[in-house]
Amino acid sequence: LKERQTSGSLYYDEVLRSELLEESELEKVFAKAIKDGEFYVVLQPKYSLQTRRLVGCEALVRWDHPGKGRLAPSQFIPLLEKHNLLVTLDMFVLEQVCTLIKGWQNKGLPIFPISVNQSRSYLFNTHYERTLVDLIDRYGVSHQLIEFELTESLFLNDVKHLSLVLASLRSHSFLVSIDDFGSGYSSLTMLKDVGIDVIKLDQGFLKGTDEHHRGKVVVQHVIAMAKQLGITTVAEGVETSEQAQMLQLLGCDVVQGYFFSHPLEISEYEALLIDDRLP
Ligand code: C2E
Ligand code: CA
Ligand code: CA
Ligand code: CA
Repeated sequence: LKERQTSGSLYYDEVLRSELLEESELEKVFAKAIKDGEFYVVLQPKYSLQTRRLVGCEALVRWDHPGKGRLAPSQFIPLLEKHNLLVTLDMFVLEQVCTLIKGWQNKGLPIFPISVNQSRSYLFNTHYERTLVDLIDRYGVSHQLIEFELTESLFLNDVKHLSLVLASLRSHSFLVSIDDFGSGYSSLTMLKDVGIDVIKLDQGFLKGTDEHHRGKVVVQHVIAMAKQLGITTVAEGVETSEQAQMLQLLGCDVVQGYFFSHPLEISEYEALLIDDRLP
């Protein structure tokens, strides 16, 4: 399946690319797509293994392309990133998330934090945080309800810079998490030197832990280290009950994955705010 998905995304990337030879054309198509509401977010629930209740969700973007149907992020994010358009998309997603939280507050629904993914291009822009804070404050959304997920591999050579950006975000009371933790080369340095709230254990990290003792030992000790450092651990890509059981045994705090729920449409997620028990 993985192989099919990869070639599928290559295919779409090629289609988009060939149709959008000119950068200015891509910009136009993108701006129109945003304006016409072709982009939207789906929400994937996260559950606490201890309380077995909902603790929040991750916002994931989708593109409902008029000609090509529903596109997954891998089919357009690399292209947008290459042309410096991903920042605009991330801002759009953040704005959607603020609108949602505001709406739930108005309806008197229980509110849980929502995490959003942040692209690299952002982090080297000095207006970055100001823009984020201004947007979120415009909606009057409490900073503690927004979590920023930053991928470990984005900072391959620049843990110091990452450290500064994250410290500053945390000084505004946002939650920060390291996405795809364990997929890069700086994981331990980050645990040691960087102030973070959450690590999201990469899916690949869990692969094979069912059968292999070594994998299990590594995951177990990463979770134990995080715990001692006051960092919440989230396991993502949990697909089987065996994985879920093992993660609970190893003391992982939070789980996210198809075994518990696929990413949901807004209305489906709203139903979980009322009945927040693990299915
Ligand atoms: P990610 O941040 O690591 O998000 C998790 C991905 O794993 C999502 O794919 C999710 O649908 C998928 N997933 C969740 N549970 C499972 C599972 O049990 N098994 C498997 N195999 N997959 C699972 P999605 O939605 O296709 O997003 C892919 C990537 O695109 C994300 O990876 C993230 O890096 C990026 N992305 C998505 N939305 C945004 C966005 O708004 N902004 C930016 N900058 N990046 C985004
Ligand atoms: Ca993520
Ligand atoms: Ca991830
Ligand atoms: Ca990933």
